[in-house]
Amino acid sequence: KYSTAAAIEEPIKPPVSVDHTQLLINGKFVDAASGKTFPTLDPRTGEVIAHVAEGDAEDVNRAVSAARKAFDEGPWPRLTAYERSRIMFRFADLVEKHNDEIAALETWDNGKPYEQSAKIEVPMFARLFRYYAGWADKIHGLTVPADGPYHVQTLHEPIGVAGQIIPWNFPLLMYAWKVGPALACGNTVVLKTAEQTPLSALYVSKLFHEAGLPAGVLNVVSGYGPTAGSALASHMDVDKVAFTGSTETGKIVLELAAKSNLKVVTLELGGKSPFIVCEDADVDKAVELAHFALFFNQGQCCCAGSRTFVHERVYDEFVEKAKARAVQRVVGDPFKNGIEQGPQVDSDQFEKILKYIRAGVDCGATLETGGERLGTKGYYIKPTVFSNVKDDMLIAKEEIFGPVQTILKYKDLDDVIRRANASQYGLAAGVFTQNIDTANTLTRALRVGTVWVNCFDTFDAAIPFGGYKMSGQGREKGVYSLKNYLQVKAVVTPLTNPAW
Ligand code: NAD
Repeated sequence: KYSTAAAIEEPIKPPVSVDHTQLLINGKFVDAASGKTFPTLDPRTGEVIAHVAEGDAEDVNRAVSAARKAFDEGPWPRLTAYERSRIMFRFADLVEKHNDEIAALETWDNGKPYEQSAKIEVPMFARLFRYYAGWADKIHGLTVPADGPYHVQTLHEPIGVAGQIIPWNFPLLMYAWKVGPALACGNTVVLKTAEQTPLSALYVSKLFHEAGLPAGVLNVVSGYGPTAGSALASHMDVDKVAFTGSTETGKIVLELAAKSNLKVVTLELGGKSPFIVCEDADVDKAVELAHFALFFNQGQCCCAGSRTFVHERVYDEFVEKAKARAVQRVVGDPFKNGIEQGPQVDSDQFEKILKYIRAGVDCGATLETGGERLGTKGYYIKPTVFSNVKDDMLIAKEEIFGPVQTILKYKDLDDVIRRANASQYGLAAGVFTQNIDTANTLTRALRVGTVWVNCFDTFDAAIPFGGYKMSGQGREKGVYSLKNYLQVKAVVTPLTNPAW
């Protein structure tokens, strides 16, 4: 049932050209100070799409000083909130107008199905900016009833220059989750994109300037983590850093922030999220949702339901049907219609996933289907299902970040609660049941930032997202995300006539 080899061996020509490959600093596209470039590759073939300017510490310095000037001297934080909001709304309109080009760039650079980019991710990107544009003129402080003859108020002010470091799995959505609230609150931004996927951010940032964004407010530096990323996290003139990526790199970012100027840090890190199928579940529906929870986006989701816990009463039936569903999954060139799964993002991820699959076989889990590459070109992996997985196996403990489902058996609620929580991560969980009491028990017992009951991966702009434990610090999206980008100033004024 996998897509025909031809669709993989002869890639479809992407319906877009690459027009922007330079860094975006102070409203202009410029080369890296070193003149260096790096190749961004097509995951369908491993071939070069374009050579992109490679920013490093010197370019980060240039970008931060542009952002600093735009913050300190304006106009961005001094525009009325309504004017800021209007520019963000205009940007969302332009994104919609260029929906298909943006989607094609995203798919070309990342490998995700074009239909997913064009029908879900780019529209969601515009929606997120409209959501934050709507917040811009609704942010305000409080009056506080303090003891004594004082008038006390709080002002909610932007923090300043925000450094933002994003990953490659959702390049556009991660841009929106970070740039949206930062700009709505009146901050200026230096964004470091992932080295695997620099293209869509450059394209949309150009549109942002067409929408009226003043120069220096949003700067985009493409480049590598240990050079450009760490220069941003340790910069003395950056007031806040927001990071999404691996837990390992998150620790480095926190350390760099602490060792430099104690900038405020928010982190959105890895996960090993349980998806719990209860004994009363409709097995067919549970199989479909668990499949989506794991395989969506080639399995490259921080919140993927990557430990599928199934009640012992329905375990065998579930495994049989989960295997059949994985075999049916349509894998192929992401530009082809009807494709459910494209290639993994790059050779590092591809090799890492195959290594985990070998580890699963070696430690005695049952390989039900998949387990190897598809075709001979690019980074396609057959949808893989393991049953008889035990909690202490590497594939049940570490983030595989690929199309590999691991199915574990459990006895009762106490058993599954204890085991689901026995992880260094706490990002998300899925619960599949028809029993309201079971749902209530699990939602309260699970130590995670999101519980999806009888659904998964619903990412509305208003719903907060973030992790417990080593899955991160802080929340993105929704009203909670604004807190990341605001300082609170208390203003205390004596009342000269205490009688009033
Ligand atoms: P990563 O954490 O290394 O990269 C994420 C971002 O951080 C990129 O922009 C990268 O350039 C930057 N970065 C890397 N080193 C840095 C440093 N020293 N200082 C500052 N910034 C730095 O992730 P990766 O190498 O792309 O992927 C490795 C693993 O991370 C994946 O296999 C997956 O398990 C996990 N991951 C998680 C997410 C998520 O959404 N939580 C996203 C991507 C990858």
